[in-house]
Amino acid sequence: EQVQPAQVQPDWLQEGSKHLWLPYAQMRTAPTPLPVLRAEGARLYLADGSSLVDGIASWWTQAHGYNHPHIRDSVSAQLGKLAHVMLGGLANEPAMTLATRLAKLAPGDLDHVFFCESGSVSVEVAMKMAIQYWINRGTRGRTRFVSFRHGYHGDTMACMSICDPDEGMHGHFKGYLPEQIVVPLPRDAAGEAAFNDMLDRRGGEIAGIIVEPLVQGAGGMKFHDPSVLRFLRQAADARGQLLILDEIMTGFGRLGTMFASEQAGIVPDIMTLSKALSGGTLPLSATIARRHVFEAFLSDRAETALMHGPTYMGNPLACAAANASLDLFEREPRLAQVAAIERQLRTDLEPCRALKGVVDVRVKGAIGVVELDRAGEGTWLRPHFLKRGVWIRPFGNIVYLAPPFVIDELDLRQLTSAVTEVTALWS
Ligand code: PLP
Repeated sequence: EQVQPAQVQPDWLQEGSKHLWLPYAQMRTAPTPLPVLRAEGARLYLADGSSLVDGIASWWTQAHGYNHPHIRDSVSAQLGKLAHVMLGGLANEPAMTLATRLAKLAPGDLDHVFFCESGSVSVEVAMKMAIQYWINRGTRGRTRFVSFRHGYHGDTMACMSICDPDEGMHGHFKGYLPEQIVVPLPRDAAGEAAFNDMLDRRGGEIAGIIVEPLVQGAGGMKFHDPSVLRFLRQAADARGQLLILDEIMTGFGRLGTMFASEQAGIVPDIMTLSKALSGGTLPLSATIARRHVFEAFLSDRAETALMHGPTYMGNPLACAAANASLDLFEREPRLAQVAAIERQLRTDLEPCRALKGVVDVRVKGAIGVVELDRAGEGTWLRPHFLKRGVWIRPFGNIVYLAPPFVIDELDLRQLTSAVTEVTALWS
């Protein structure tokens, strides 16, 4: 089947494409990106006048859909007063209010909020916090993190070191990064025994255990049960280790609860948030620490302070967007919408299971995954999705949907039908 790419290319796209280095792209062969002029709800509007239903919510950020008027108005009002002010020594109302609200919302005594601008940097900060927590308590030599196969925590140097070194996207850098302890997720009794054994042998080297709760995202959209998180919490507690949950993808409702950890009834020592934190409007992330972690940084000595401070941390516009996003979680039925999306994904994607070339179909919250038997040809699928009016960007052999929570039944059906039809072509 021949599918033509979009024909309309504004001048700015043609000129800019000579200079703009795209993410995760082989620049010799990467298709020209699609010119998006505006977006509304679950739809992207292109330069040629057509629209696409967004199946992946701009990398899982759009909890309330694009261009929600409450977020737009809040950011505009803030822009009229104070677009930015440094957080070193100066305070701004949106950042203070957001820290207070996040501390109330986050499970247990996760009460101390450090702001950054990207998910990766919030993970870097979590790693720094964990390492210095031990140093401040007088314990040296805890230099490594335990992380998990199929894990993904970002693209910066320390983040890459805790991603899956073999099947992940950062394989080139193996040997160039801090050496970590990357192990399989303990999913059964044998896995648990092996994990405990590793912790007992190497506990003195370990600064923290970091995991994406319930769904490992960019490392392959792999799911696990809340019991795995409960085990990790117990294993860490029994040995006085720190548990860090990377809720950058799962936080703010994606799995049907505000935070995935709620489904396991556990409280991590440190939690990272980003993506939907600002409702998908402005770059913002947070690293939230429990009281005992924060208290390890308190003393009369300057050197126990956390030496970190991104220039734009606590940016008032981004924090105003995040406060507006939290308003919407309070006022609008987001979690019920996620539950409805989950039900529809289960029904609509089920037929894919029977298709040749499909090895698994799985759904958790507002994430639906069709796993294909062959990897590395995801770009083949792209024009077929575009022809069906949907924006879906598979990685490797994983075709997935993670739409904005406000998507309606018909638009979601357009996405699931496209996945089913295109997967059938593939097989
Ligand atoms: N951690 C997780 C679980 C993620 O899904 C991502 C992004 O996909 C990151 C960290 C990195 O976030 P960012 O791309 O904002 O640096």
